[in-house]
This record gives sequence, C-alpha cells and structure tokens, in this order.
Amino acid sequence: MTQSSLPKVLPFAGSPLDRCENLRRDESAMSAMEQSERALFLPFWRGQVFVMSDGAPALIQVKALDTLSIADPGPVLLGTEGNNAQPWFAISLTEEDAAADDFPLAGLGEWMDLRVAAPLFKAADLAIVGRAAALLSWHSRHRFCANCGVLTTAAEGGIKRECADCGTEHFPRTDPVVIMLAVRGDQCLMGRQTGWPENTYSALAGFVEQGESLEEACAREVGEEAGVSIGAVRYVLSQPWPFPSSLMIGLIAEALSEDITLDDELEDARWFSRDDVRAMLAGTHEHYHAPMSFSAAHHLLKEWAAKEDG
Ligand SMILES: [Zn+2]
Repeated sequence: MTQSSLPKVLPFAGSPLDRCENLRRDESAMSAMEQSERALFLPFWRGQVFVMSDGAPALIQVKALDTLSIADPGPVLLGTEGNNAQPWFAISLTEEDAAADDFPLAGLGEWMDLRVAAPLFKAADLAIVGRAAALLSWHSRHRFCANCGVLTTAAEGGIKRECADCGTEHFPRTDPVVIMLAVRGDQCLMGRQTGWPENTYSALAGFVEQGESLEEACAREVGEEAGVSIGAVRYVLSQPWPFPSSLMIGLIAEALSEDITLDDELEDARWFSRDDVRAMLAGTHEHYHAPMSFSAAHHLLKEWAAKEDG
C-alpha cells in the first residue's frame, strides 16, 4: 500500500499561537498584552488582508495604533507566540483609517482578498490570518443579539459577544461541510460550478444539515448534485476554511452507480481517471485543472491519486 501523501497539517490549520483561553477573563493581563510594545496587530479592512511587498501579512505595532480608529469589535486577541508570549491581535480598520494620509502601511504593499493572498503566505502565517479573518467576519455579521435583537458587545478579547439586555452569550460558530470524492474503481467524480475558472473541476461539497451524520450528508449531497448512489464512506482529512467560517471534512466515498444526473448547483460533473487527476494536480493535463493548492479538495485528490486502488 502506498503511504499517505497528506501533509500533517493542511493550509489554514497549524497555528503556532497559544489561544490563551485561560487568560481571557483576566482584565489586567488582557490590557497589559494590548499595551505591550511587543504586541503585533494584524489589520483587516473590508474583509481584506494587507500584504507587504515581500508577500508577508502586514503587522502594526502598538505605537502606530494611535493614528487609527479601530472598528468594532476592537482588538481581538488571537493568542501569544513563543516562549516570550508575544501577543497577536487582529483589528478591523475603518474607511477613514485606510484612506488617511498618515496610514502607517501606505506604500508598503496592498489590500488583498484572502483567497488571492493565501498562496503567498507561509503556513504559520496563513493559519493565523485565516483564523483572524473568520473571527472578524463573525463579529461583523453577528453584531445583534439573535435572542432579543439589541446590539451586543465583544468580550474576553473578542472570543465571544454578550447581550447586556437579555444576558445571552454568543460564540463564534463553525459550519461543518462535507467535501467528498465519490470513487468507483479507477475513477473519481468531480464537478464544476458556473463562474469557476474555465475547465476547473473539484470534489463535490455541501453543508451538513441538522439531524444528519457525515455519512448521510455525503450520500445526500452526491445524490442531489450528481444523481450517484453512495455506499461506504471513509474519513480522510479536515481543514478550517475561513470563507467565511467552515470546517471542511474530507471523505472518500464508494460510488454504487455511474450515471450522472445534474441538479441546478453544478454546471457539469464527470468521472476522471487517476491518470487524469495526477496530470491535473501536476498542472500538465491538456484540458482540465485541479482546485487551488490550498483547498481541502486539492489534498483529497492528492491522497486518492497517490494510491494504486481504493
Ligand atoms: Zn439579547
């Protein structure tokens, strides 16, 4: 049997930071970290990350924060790094900040969508930036209490929001998504959606619904999207996916049928041989392209293509 080709940690996982769950209720420790000269502040604006001209994410020091007016939820503690516990925060900048003449990063790089910036970052930076993007995005989309409707406030360094009116605490959520390769002998099933880059195909995927196991979600999604029946399902990998807050759960599923019936979600779906997939991953296929190298689908395909069977 061929050894697994999976990296130990997929892109967006493997953050080197200590998440400091035990320090978050200690207000003096929190404020000391926020005012520390060693603290690093990772800025976001309109959901974009600032990429320096050397390809690294921008980090602002505490003394440069004076010129900025940070938006809700204020500095969010991401954690501390290393033996000297260097604090890392994420901040969301206002329109005025980013447009100001004295913006501390002016001329040093550019704002980028995380999907564009992701391939530029080192693995550790990508994990930190991904978590920060997911957390800030959750804050911006969950400002009001889901129980009573009033404005809530961030608490404990931004790990939750609290409602002063009804007392409900709200925590960042993660949505489970199954992403699966249905396989039959030497063939695997992939599809494409309208609007994707031309001739790019990827594993089918969908949100897990309430009252559903991963295996059931896998069979339902493949059935709905492609009309293919699913038998045994094998877990392969998982990956945090900050677009905006999913956990991708990678599965390889035994296909019990071959005929494809498309629903509205896919523009096309087809069977690909292992040789096709190997060429797509290598970027040498004459027609088709594999999904982005930092995606769970890419690593799921790599895992399947590296084996001789199954
Ligand atoms: Zn409330």
